[in-house]
Amino acid sequence: MTNIDLNINDIKGSTISVIGIGRSGMAIAKLAHHLGADVFISDKYASNGCRDNLEYLQNIGVKGEIGGHTATVYDSDLVIISPGVAADSDVVIESLRSGIKVIGEIEFGSLFTDSPIIAVTGSNGKSTTVNILAEMCQTDEINGVLAGNVGYAFSEKVLDELQNPDPNRVYILEVSSFQLEFIDTFHPFVSIFLNISPDHLDRHKNYENYLLAKLRLAENQTENDYIIYNADDPVLEEKLNGLKSNILTFSPKTNNANLFSVEDSTIINKEYATLTKLEKVGLPGRHNLYNLLAAASGAHCLGVSDQKIAEVIQTFKGIPHRLESIAIKNGIEFINDAKATNIDAVKVAIESYTKPLVLILGGLAKGNDFPELLNYKDNIKEIVAYGEARQTISQELAGKFNVTTIEALKDAVSTAYNLAAEGDIVLLSPGCASFDQFTNFEDRGLKFAAWVREL
Ligand code: ADP
Repeated sequence: MTNIDLNINDIKGSTISVIGIGRSGMAIAKLAHHLGADVFISDKYASNGCRDNLEYLQNIGVKGEIGGHTATVYDSDLVIISPGVAADSDVVIESLRSGIKVIGEIEFGSLFTDSPIIAVTGSNGKSTTVNILAEMCQTDEINGVLAGNVGYAFSEKVLDELQNPDPNRVYILEVSSFQLEFIDTFHPFVSIFLNISPDHLDRHKNYENYLLAKLRLAENQTENDYIIYNADDPVLEEKLNGLKSNILTFSPKTNNANLFSVEDSTIINKEYATLTKLEKVGLPGRHNLYNLLAAASGAHCLGVSDQKIAEVIQTFKGIPHRLESIAIKNGIEFINDAKATNIDAVKVAIESYTKPLVLILGGLAKGNDFPELLNYKDNIKEIVAYGEARQTISQELAGKFNVTTIEALKDAVSTAYNLAAEGDIVLLSPGCASFDQFTNFEDRGLKFAAWVREL
């Protein structure tokens, strides 16, 4: 098989294998099929979901298989992988060994759109930041369309654009390090780097690989593009400062090198004009201030006015399961931070509040370092530890904190309520994975909210 030169004309009539039949794989297959390719989709697993998806695709003329990859995969001009497929998986290695070009989903989608792309990466805060950006980028001039790791595959939105052209469209993409491993020409107009901390080391083998994968976001950017990064992150400063694109930084620390910063409890622009007072910011937490300033900088590059940016900074209330206020009962506020699955996320949650906290921790431990919470003895009034990790939490923190252990999260909610007094906050920021009692963090957050409402 020969490698095809990827453009819209050559896709027609080519043979494409798509690996993975989840949301991204479905979107790739539909886009490639729409463009006239002969598409074969293949998944290692054979769940009911896989079966339903394959049936759907077969009905529109896409061929495929589930429950393993056969040789048909390698009888193709191009292999496109879903973000969940690892770089060192057999199917990728075998494709490359057979001389077939392998690309990822965002690379493929980007070949068929000329709309500007603003792409956000980082270890923490990506989903929050792209959602802020999506609100800022709704103006008479631009129509921000959210895609990437946020539930809507980029290729799905590109197909939608091909079918319904829209000159105002701007893509706002949440991009994980996994998606960046298989780019080639992917070229954002604006790239935003929020922060870098060791994460996903299981798949990237080491920190350097993880960092290099993230930095690839900027590799095709030119003098006409923008790179925006967190000025307080020394790793980003070292790696990104000096690249040939227009470099902009953000930070809540006062410094006129930043496009937006904070002075006298006021968010200001480079000309020292006021956008808003900090007390009017809708989202709690200093970490969210970083996310807001990052989004503001990105929106600015797309021509969004300071007035619109300020309006969203004041009205944006956050996304579900990240410091989400659920209810106030008898003066006790309940906060759902079910997405916090590591200790760093728990720490930023604790730092976001000044009221006494009844903290619900627990779930499935993944090598968490609970003693790091000892620095927060003044903030935490009680800890309720639930799930598989409850004994570990109790052993590591008892004596330093009041710790109550209880198996089910449902019972932990009522226990926390009983321990709290008027003016306190009950904070579910579990610091562990959810899989011992729930299907995922969303399921954990939704059930937590339902149990709070039942109290
Ligand atoms: P991601 O999409 O990168 O996982 P989210 O916006 O979903 O990020 O936030 C995940 C968790 O990370 C949140 O619960 C919050 O506690 C924490 N977080 C969010 N933004 C930041 C930030 N800028 N710095 C550090 N931690 C953050």
